[in-house]
Amino acid sequence: MAYSRFFDSDIYIYSHVEGYVYCAACLLSEESEIIKDDEHLFMHIEDHLKAGHNIPDMLYYEIIMDSDRYTLDKHLTK
Ligand SMILES: [Zn+2]
Repeated sequence: MAYSRFFDSDIYIYSHVEGYVYCAACLLSEESEIIKDDEHLFMHIEDHLKAGHNIPDMLYYEIIMDSDRYTLDKHLTK
């Protein structure tokens, strides 16, 4: 599931089927960011904020409220 898309923000981040949160085509680097824990997630969102990117206010909370954010094969568990 996507938490935020380029449509209305500067970040496209979603829960990847392989068990991590994925910041796709991340503006902070040349590549996409693979995030496997909440500390990394928090720091990564902070880095986007510091860079002045337009991201949803509640993005971090929205992601940590998703209990399946680091779950492998979400299709099978639901
Ligand atoms: Zn990013």
